[in-house]
Amino acid sequence: MPTYYLWNIGCQMNKSESERLGGYLEAEGYRLVETPRGADLVLMNTCVVRGSAEERVVGELGYLAGLKKRSPRMSIVVTGCFVESKPGALKERFPHVDLWFPAGKYEEFTSWMKAKTLHWSSADPLLTAAANGPTAFVPVIQGCDYFCTYCIVPYRRGREHSRPVDEVVCEVEGLSRRGIKEITLLGQNINSYGHDLPGRPDLADLLAELNDVPGLVRIRFLTSHPRDVDGRFIDAMARLGKVCECISLPAQSGDDRVLQAMRRGYTIAQYRDLVQELRQHVPGIAISTDIIVGFPGETEAEFQHTVDLVRDLRFDTVHIAAYSPRPGTIASRTLPDTTPIEEKKRRVGIIEQLQESIASEISLGLQGRRIEVLVERKTKGKWEGRTRTDKLVFFSDNADHTGELVDVEITSTSPWSLQATLLSRSEKALAT
Ligand code: SF4
Repeated sequence: MPTYYLWNIGCQMNKSESERLGGYLEAEGYRLVETPRGADLVLMNTCVVRGSAEERVVGELGYLAGLKKRSPRMSIVVTGCFVESKPGALKERFPHVDLWFPAGKYEEFTSWMKAKTLHWSSADPLLTAAANGPTAFVPVIQGCDYFCTYCIVPYRRGREHSRPVDEVVCEVEGLSRRGIKEITLLGQNINSYGHDLPGRPDLADLLAELNDVPGLVRIRFLTSHPRDVDGRFIDAMARLGKVCECISLPAQSGDDRVLQAMRRGYTIAQYRDLVQELRQHVPGIAISTDIIVGFPGETEAEFQHTVDLVRDLRFDTVHIAAYSPRPGTIASRTLPDTTPIEEKKRRVGIIEQLQESIASEISLGLQGRRIEVLVERKTKGKWEGRTRTDKLVFFSDNADHTGELVDVEITSTSPWSLQATLLSRSEKALAT
């Protein structure tokens, strides 16, 4: 039985694509191995959103070059955002790689596999998410039409292209029949879904269709651009029972001059209004955000506007990154990266500390509450699951609760997770 090794870094989209590629290889009789040593096929799914990620990719490719010298029959395949649309220069730089294919371009991989005369029927397995316990990721739109000046994604994943509604519904029905209870719809710009499809269905339409899929109990989605979150969508979040009350809404900065230099396309007043509207129409909604500090030219005063935003809006989660110039992006070509790394680290530290105290208070507010949890797996002897607002919960019990909706009482809290005692199967589960 041929073996494969999967190396994956980066976003949820990468994770989901790696799961699919793994599912496809296993459908073809490959067996997953824990190390590349002696593997017949090494598949790397890469990320270059920051310099540190790109360094890891180059490091792994260097290591594989040495391994391949000792096992010349090993095939090395690289995909993800490290792969430019024209990988000519990469082929020269890394001649030991057998195939480069751009993110999401599965057909280039399948035809290469077919050419390798490894028996292969069709690409269907790639159209189906691999199950990960009771949850699965389902990419619905690839690419991005915005060109935020710091971002490499549009150059590596191309323009937005959505999967047809019926194809997504068909996949999710199949997942539900396989016991999947929760799906997360994926897109770099999920709220742009459908604008390129005949009849221009939007994300609200897709959510309404998926809300009717029997057996599915929860629907999540990632990542929303503040410019594209409209009233129709907010109404769908409020109205559709299976759509969870949480949203990822990257702000990136709390300062208007910086937002303009990033070409984000909204003002901080508009962002604050949107958050208020979401909280008004979707009670208890959890909001997570992304923040970049140290963007070229960001002054101390402008940074303080970001601190004010985080303090005022009290996000459930804040993903913080120090600005890292990405070759080929507008900012890397036009805006000198003048903020010293130490200063960037200081700014990251300030936001991290502030967010930890906010997250701690938010968690404390759940102490003693009865909350519904979808149980995903057992970790270190405890059941692990998530609330509808994406809070991580742990509880102990001898019975097998994998994939169950249960009600628990929160007994203790930390900024990042909750401990609980089991009360019963969830009232909702008991009702269905
Ligand atoms: S919206 Fe901006 S940050 Fe997000 S993927 Fe598109 S270009 Fe990148």
